[in-house]
Amino acid sequence: MNVSATIQMLGTASGLPCLEGFQTSCLLDMDGDAYLFDAGEPCAATLYRREMDFNTIRAVFISHMHADHFSGVPMLVQTMQLLGRTSPLKLFVPPEAVLAVTNLLAAQYLMNELLPYELEVLPIEAGKRFFADKSIEVKALANPHLAVFKEKIGQKYPNRMESFSFLITLGSRKTKILYSGDIRNIDNLDPFLAEGIVDVLVLECAHIKPEETLQYLDRNAEVREVILTHFGPSWAGRKTELANMEYSSGKVRVAADGLCVALS
Ligand SMILES: [Zn+2]
Repeated sequence: MNVSATIQMLGTASGLPCLEGFQTSCLLDMDGDAYLFDAGEPCAATLYRREMDFNTIRAVFISHMHADHFSGVPMLVQTMQLLGRTSPLKLFVPPEAVLAVTNLLAAQYLMNELLPYELEVLPIEAGKRFFADKSIEVKALANPHLAVFKEKIGQKYPNRMESFSFLITLGSRKTKILYSGDIRNIDNLDPFLAEGIVDVLVLECAHIKPEETLQYLDRNAEVREVILTHFGPSWAGRKTELANMEYSSGKVRVAADGLCVALS
């Protein structure tokens, strides 16, 4: 990479409020241009307390619509409104949610007519590079995290069980970050893991077994560093157990709110 970049874990908890962390949110900062991956509560307050310049956030990516990944969006949009943001913001959400999110924000008086900046609510497009900006590219891969609800919901609602993982490529050296979002199994990431070396895998721990996953990575992929995050209540007080886990081809880091990892 020829730019300085960091991954900052703003929230590292999964779907329940917990004592050890806020809901999921991860900020990628590249030389002062920032990109937010998931926006669980209370990401706007967390960024404000860190004296973030909200103008530097160029795009927000929501992996799926569960509240622990989306709930901070309205406050983020409102915070940017009240702080007088002027630069445009792209908010990528699952296609099934574009209209609903637009309407939800409008119901909260956060429509473009009342914002000092242009907000574009855009659909994530899977299977291709759907976002490129300065020295970052983002691809999305659909995953079956929400498929379990299909039978219960049936045709009654418009939901299409859309959930995504993201492969982020940075800078001229093509540093690769794989952000799992929520998945069902590590195999769900196979198409991205097969694309070559992954420098950093930000991996959720609410729906996978970390020990099995690391064994899998040992055998099947070249991942230089894994940041474990998205911890449910079952991990309370057990972070040391995770920190002691190993795999041969890389390094394991256990995230806590506030963790900042410099990318080389
Ligand atoms: Zn989640």
